[in-house]
Amino acid sequence: MADKIERSEAEWREHLGEERYRILRQAGTEAAFSGELLNNKGDGAYVCGACGEPLFASRTKFESGSGWPSFTAPVAGEAVEEITDRSHGMTRTEVRCAKCEGHLGHVFPDGPGPTGLRYCINSASLDFAPGDESAKGEPAASGERR
Ligand code: FE
Repeated sequence: MADKIERSEAEWREHLGEERYRILRQAGTEAAFSGELLNNKGDGAYVCGACGEPLFASRTKFESGSGWPSFTAPVAGEAVEEITDRSHGMTRTEVRCAKCEGHLGHVFPDGPGPTGLRYCINSASLDFAPGDESAKGEPAASGERR
């Protein structure tokens, strides 16, 4: 795992644009069924939309019906950080990019096997890299918790 990326909020806003800034840096959520990558079925890596780090592999993507891209596991346990989120009157587990701490989405314990997990990720938090070999390692069961 590479060192963390740190930028000022002004730099992130400039780098990401308003919509991605709202989601990745302010823990926003895109409207369900609106994301460009929701129905993407290509082989490759889903990388962080802020820093480019590989986060999810296409073979772990599944159709959840939620309206957000859904995965059973991150590409490696250390690729994401999972943080307890008590906002909006719920207790959920937030998923962030471990490298830049960008907000990705949440993980829920109602996914299909083998992990039983559903990583519910904003399309706007991801970019797709077709055929990228860097995301073909064994998926981890879960990310680091803190
Ligand atoms: Fe990142």
